[in-house]
Amino acid sequence: MDHILQLKCLVCGREYSPDEIDYICPEHGNEGIVDVRYDYDLISTRISRESLAENRDYSIWRYKPLLPMAMDAEVPPLAIGWTPLYRAERLAERLGLRHVFVKDDGRLPTGSFKDRASAVAVVRARVQQAEIITTASTGNAAAALSGICASVGQKNVIFVPESAPPAKIAQLLVYNSTVMLIKGSYDDAFELCLEAAAEYGWYNRNTGYNPYMTEGKKTAAFEICEQLDWQAPDVIFVSVGDGCIIGGLHKGLKDLLALGFIETMPRIIGVQAEGSNYLYEVWKNNEDVLTRAPVSGKTVADSISAGLPRDRIKALAAVTSTNGAYVEVSDDEILTAIPELARGIGVFAEPAGAAAWAGLVKAANTGLVAVDERIVVLNTGNGLKDIAGAMTAVEMAGSRPSRIAPDLEELKRALNKA
Ligand SMILES: *Cc1c(COP(=O)(O)O)cnc(C)c1O
Ligand SMILES: [Zn+2]
Repeated sequence: MDHILQLKCLVCGREYSPDEIDYICPEHGNEGIVDVRYDYDLISTRISRESLAENRDYSIWRYKPLLPMAMDAEVPPLAIGWTPLYRAERLAERLGLRHVFVKDDGRLPTGSFKDRASAVAVVRARVQQAEIITTASTGNAAAALSGICASVGQKNVIFVPESAPPAKIAQLLVYNSTVMLIKGSYDDAFELCLEAAAEYGWYNRNTGYNPYMTEGKKTAAFEICEQLDWQAPDVIFVSVGDGCIIGGLHKGLKDLLALGFIETMPRIIGVQAEGSNYLYEVWKNNEDVLTRAPVSGKTVADSISAGLPRDRIKALAAVTSTNGAYVEVSDDEILTAIPELARGIGVFAEPAGAAAWAGLVKAANTGLVAVDERIVVLNTGNGLKDIAGAMTAVEMAGSRPSRIAPDLEELKRALNKA
């Protein structure tokens, strides 16, 4: 791991060598999230746009020289990464735009973007020969850790709020994790998980705590740029809960700029639900991202419900330092976005994924994007993760099945009405 120079605390600026600390800067309790700093000169001897063009490993591991692991580190067998980037012409047209792309991370093995981070956690934990890996999660990070652990036979303990959608809890049980359903919020689950990890010495995958999760998540930015032949998009829309994904995208883009793989930094637009809009408020009102009081976190989009976003320092910087913006959308706008996205390009997203599309709709209506800009909307989660949310969405859209007897005449009547 000679390519990692330091871990730099984003609160106090102190630098640590990678073997000095595992997670946070010890100076600030649980808030001292650190950033992994690389030796780009060294990395550029190991990876180039040309070497990538010849690399037939279409997974996140094609970017291994930019990931926090040794080149010969063993990786899990599941196919993680290189999700499709679709050009969405009908969706673009609706908004009067020309170039809209949808990247579908609902296609990852456990159905969400979180596989990118959990894969890195599992690799690192196994290098350390950790007996148990743990995480708290609103559901998807847990499912991702659970599934990737199952693929290599790794024990893990999961903390999720008992209100997590049943599909996500089912995943955990199917993969045979030890599952703690917490009678409380995600924030409660997070605190307990940190305590447990400290008590038992478990490997800690928690978002906004383990700095290497950002590094896994940045692979989506690598893929977007490579899939666009290294012409970076102008704008990227992503939904934001804890803020780790948006921070990861920003990190990936910074890596690519440092290596000269892309020439411009896209604007990053973070989309939050109205009831879980901590970062939107901080950004809009210029508040202190470290000390502002938590919000309720209430939203139909469970995956972006975060009263106190754990990765908020990186999440705010992703927007402010790219001249981006935060946008907030209502639960109704999120639910409306599910069938719109599905009908416009065939991508069925869970509410938190569809929120990114709802954000672009709002941005187009408020002039936050221009007609000719190349815009990427990231779907972060599969629609099958939350059927209750999807059913509410189609009811709102007025879509109902016809219930008929197996009879041709009845079919004809039903088709005439439809
Ligand atoms: C986790 C998640 C998000 C938000 O990611 P953060 O890093 O918490 O901001 C968005 N969508 C889905 C589907 C997720 O699982
Ligand atoms: Zn510090």
